[in-house]
This record gives sequence, C-alpha cells and structure tokens, in this order.
Amino acid sequence: MISIALAGNPNSGKTSLFNELTGARQHVGNWPGVTVEKKEGPLKGHDDVTIVDLPGIYSMSPYTLEEVVSRDYIMNERPDAIINIIDATNLERNLYLTTQVMETNTPMVIALNMMDLIEKRGIKIDTKKLSEKFGGCPVVEISALERKGIDNLITVVLKNAKEKKAPKPVNFDADVEKAISDIQDIFNLKDDAGRYYAIKLFERDSVITENYKMASDQKEKLHAILADVEEKLDNDTETIITNGRYDYIAEVMPSIQKKKVAKNEQTMTDKIDSIVTNRWLSLPIFAAIIFVIYYVSITTIGSYTIDWVGAFFEWISGGVETFLTNIGAADFLIDLVINGIIAGVGAVLGFVPQLMILFFFLSFLEGCGYMSRVAFIMDRAFRRFGLSGKSFIPFIIGTGCGVPAIMATRTIENEKDRRLTIMTTTFMPCGAKLPIIALFVGALFPDQPWLAPSCYLIGIVAIIVSCILLKRTKGFSGEPAPFIIELPEYRLPKLRNVLSMMWEKGKGFIIKAGTIIFVCSAVIWFVSGYNWTLQAVDPEDSILAAVAGVISPIFAPIGLGSWQATAGTISGLVAKENLVSVLAVIYHATGDGSETDPSLISNIQQYFTPASGMAYMLFNLLCAPCFAAIGAIRREMASAKWTLAAVGYQCGFAYVVAFIVYQVMNAIM
Ligand code: GDP
Ligand code: MG
Repeated sequence: MISIALAGNPNSGKTSLFNELTGARQHVGNWPGVTVEKKEGPLKGHDDVTIVDLPGIYSMSPYTLEEVVSRDYIMNERPDAIINIIDATNLERNLYLTTQVMETNTPMVIALNMMDLIEKRGIKIDTKKLSEKFGGCPVVEISALERKGIDNLITVVLKNAKEKKAPKPVNFDADVEKAISDIQDIFNLKDDAGRYYAIKLFERDSVITENYKMASDQKEKLHAILADVEEKLDNDTETIITNGRYDYIAEVMPSIQKKKVAKNEQTMTDKIDSIVTNRWLSLPIFAAIIFVIYYVSITTIGSYTIDWVGAFFEWISGGVETFLTNIGAADFLIDLVINGIIAGVGAVLGFVPQLMILFFFLSFLEGCGYMSRVAFIMDRAFRRFGLSGKSFIPFIIGTGCGVPAIMATRTIENEKDRRLTIMTTTFMPCGAKLPIIALFVGALFPDQPWLAPSCYLIGIVAIIVSCILLKRTKGFSGEPAPFIIELPEYRLPKLRNVLSMMWEKGKGFIIKAGTIIFVCSAVIWFVSGYNWTLQAVDPEDSILAAVAGVISPIFAPIGLGSWQATAGTISGLVAKENLVSVLAVIYHATGDGSETDPSLISNIQQYFTPASGMAYMLFNLLCAPCFAAIGAIRREMASAKWTLAAVGYQCGFAYVVAFIVYQVMNAIM
C-alpha cells in the first residue's frame, strides 16, 4: 500500500486536487478551515495507492489544530510521498512551508497549481530552477480547476514514491548549521527525519521539546548551544530559523519567477472590491444580498416547489392508504404509515427543494469569491466585539448546518475565541430552522416579508450580544487573534462546483429525513397517540402530553405554557426540522403537515398569539441546537463541563430573549 499526502497552504487547491485524484466530492471552499480533518481516498485507477488530503497549513509549527493534524500525520504516519501543492500565484509565500516539508526526509513532488492564472497574468516560472533550488525535488505544473497536468503529476509522484528520493533540505547560516549538527550528535539524530527534529529542538518547539525524553546533561548541552547561537546572532532561535527560510526564498526567487512589469491598472476584482468592501456600503450590500437570496429562494420560486412536493406527497399518501386498506391492514398501521411516517418525512422533504435553491445561491456566492469578502468585512465589525473574522466563517457555514460550522472553528488559534465561537455559532439559523421560521412568520406575520430573512440578523445580533457579555467574564477575555484571509479573484464559478457544494450542504436533510426523522415520526406518532397503558387516545391524554405537561410550566412566563409547544421544542432537540412535523401531528393538521399546510397554519393562528408565536420561534431558534450539534460541541470542546456550559448558556439566553419579546409585544400590542 502506498500513501501519498497532499500538503500545502490553505486555499492552494488541495481539496480540488484531492477530488481530481480520487474522484471524491469533498467540499472545495475558498477560505481556510474547510478541510479540518484529514480525508483519505484511493487514487483513481490505482487501488493500492491512498491519497490523504491534509488540512491547509502555513507552517509545521503547532500553532493551530490543523497544523498539529498535518504535522502529526507527516511525522508519525510517514507517508511514502508528499505532494506539496503550491498556489503558483503566491509562490514566494507558499515556498515557506516547502522549506519545512523538505526537512522531513520524505519523497516529495512540488505541484505548481493554478497555472491557468499564471499564464493569464503574464508571470513566468522557471520550473527547472525551482526544482534545482529546492533540493532537486520534481516540479509539475497543474491546474486542479481545469484538470490539467494531473496525469503527469500522478506518474511523477508514483515514480518518486518508488524511488524513495527525498529532496535535499535548504541550508542555513554556517553558525546555525553547526548548531544543528551538534544537536544531531547530542541526540543521535543522524538518520531519517533527524534534521527535522534537530531543527525543532533548535527552535524550542514546545511540543517536540516536551515529548523528548532528555537526560540532564543533554538538556544542559542543548541550552548551551542555543544560548551561544542566540548571543552570536542576537536573535531568538525560532526567529533565526524563520528568517533563514525567508532569506533563502528571497534570494532564489528572482531566478525562479519573472513577472511582467505590473501595469498600474485596476483589475476587475479591484473595481468590484472598492464597492463591495467599502467601509460604508459593505454591510448594507451584504444585508441586501441575503435578503434577495432569501426572498427568491424561500418566498417566490421556493413556494411553488412546496406545492408540487405537497401534491406529490398527497398523491403518495392517498395511494398508500388505498393500498393498505385494500390489503386489509389494521387501522393503527394505516394511521402510523399515513399520519406518522409519511406526514413526518413529507414535511421535511417538502422543504428540500427550497433549501436546495437557497444553498445553490449561497454556494454561488462562495464559489465566486464573495463569501471570503464577507468574512473580511465582518472581521472589521467583529473586532469591536472582541472576535475576529475567523469566527465569522463558522457562522456562515452555520447557515447550512451547525455541525460542520462547529468543526470549522478549528482554524481559530486562540482557545478562548474558539470556545466562544463554538458556543455562539448555532445562533445562526441553520437550514433546519428555516421551516420553523417559515411556519410562524407565514402564519402570524404574513404581511411582513422582511421578517423571515431578518432571522439571520437576529442570529448575528445574538452572537454579538453574547460576545460582549461573555468577553467580560474571566473565561473569555483577551484580544482576538489577527485575521488573515486571502481574497480570491472574483470569477464565475463552475456550475459543477456550485452544484456539488449545494449537494454537500443539502444532502444532510435528505439523509436525515430517511433516518432520524423517519424513526422520530413513528415515535412521536406513538407517544402522541397512546397513553401509558398503550391505549389509543387523543393527543391531549397521550404520553407526550403527560411528559411535556410536566415541563411546560417553565415556559409559562414566555407565553408557552401549553404541552403542545413544549413537545415541539423537545422534538426540535432531536432535529430542528422535526418541530414543524410534530406540531402538525399534535394539532391534527389535515394537509401534508409541512410549514405551508393551510390547516397547520390555521392551527398556529388559533393556538399562538403574535407575541407568543414570536417568543416561541425565537426560543427555538436560539436555544440548544439539535443533538448532532451538541455532540459536535462535546467533541470540539473535549469537555463535558464546557458542553454543559454552552448548552446552558444558549437555553438561558433564548429564554431571556423570548421573555423580553413576549412581555414587550404584549405590552404594546
Ligand atoms: P484547499 O484549501 O487547499 O483545499 O483549496 P481548495 O481545493 O478548497 O481550493 C481553493 C480555491 O481555489 C477554490 O475556490 C478553488 O476553486 C480554487 N482553485 C483550486 N485549484 C485551482 C486552479 O488550478 N486554478 C484556479 N484558477 N483556481 C483553483
Ligand atoms: Mg481543503
């Protein structure tokens, strides 16, 4: 078995290349944090070769979790070869990582990606020189986007892996080289990746130094060497190495890359950016875009699809009912299938076309480069509240689903910021919460089309308020980390990419409908239709009513003292999409049970006032997320205590907001 790792800076095209090499459909995004865990897949046409997509990193120092994942993989699993993928339009900066990977004594090929852009920009790269200056490692020009040079790359890498030819690392100053070789002597680091470890010890890399069992005389000698060099070169050893790398790259660059003299002309991207990222216009433009997208996908085009899907399910439901009646199925079975399962699953699936249209637009914004600007614009705003734009990336991802959003927080170096982001990410309305919004806004505020898209704004405000509050506490205080994001050039994204991003975001709902929702619908049907002695009863006397009835007094101050509302909230913990279908079941909705079912809408109008409906909607948008997301919080926080704190905070916050809204709306209406 041959293993080949893809290593490179964020946004260099690793995932695009990975998809080309393996035929996989991993998410390609133009911001950091999209690949946070390594992904593996067999090389197309070579079952004995595994390709590993590592998270993007700028260096092999353990500042971020992604760096730890990538570095551990390279150093502990020792892949047979590394493809160091480089964004050729940012050659100089990308080569910094190259100098480090070269020290790991792993066979390596440089894949110069984005060659399509290089030609357009009139840049010339001398690949022979590049190879010569970087340890003789083979260089292959590719374009992952246009699928060029991939076959050649495969041939070269496989040859390289078989020959086990690692590049010869770059040399530092004589003084530094002397120190490194002394360290190699002292710690017996002569072979394999010895030089890598010696340099890490030289740099006082915290992780490597801690893990090294040193005898006390070794420790003393190391300290003496480092102190000596530091005095001589008047700098700390970490900086000495960093500078050494940059100096080397700067020295060889002119011979490798020739740029046409840049004309002082604004590119199209500059022109667009001068408007879109303008200090005053950027936020209104962002709000307008979100409004239009939401309006088009949910309110106009999307509402037709709901009718079609509704009609389709009615047809299925009718057919199945006739069939079951004809074969003489028991009444309870017909009821379970029709009102439990088909209604429950149908309510979720009915929403899928709308969601897909919404995700199509969001994916388009991502693919054309606008979403990176949003992160950049938001950084300016978020900095005032003590968060960086890095936190905004999870928030954007959270509009699709909270689980990947919580995982995307791994790019945030600062542990406090990361925790704060994890705790607040799910305030963003995820796709599953949209049916709740659509139902309550549609039923109680039909003349206010701005209200539904405003829920994104409410999410953002909830996050900002939480940051201001929590940043004042000991657990979260401190400056946000600096935020660096490359703004990719604007371009028309490829339809294939947009569609696959859309599918990536949306498939979760279809899978959920077939699994969790399917089972839940059956369970809810049962607990809402039977009592403790397993007799069929009206929902009012059911198990669900009894359980929810015990809890519901807690919600009386926010106008939601009914067991039905409580039951909806509980089912929302399993999956937020459930809430609508559960309300449909317990209110005996007679239509398809989706958020546009007229009978359900009239139920909502009957049982909720505008004030209590608003409070209920807000509570469910802001309270603890679904179990899948709570699980993700638990994983990422790696602490039960913090998970509890997060869920407790979210529920408390939601309660307070709902309370205020309920009381104020009651007072003024
Ligand atoms: P990763 O962060 O390294 O995994 O990079 P991705 O594969 O997610 O790609 C980052 C961005 O660069 C995406 O918007 C890609 O569409 C784009 N991209 C990747 N390869 C190429 C290429 O060869 N040419 C151009 N023009 N864009 C590319
Ligand atoms: Mg990636």
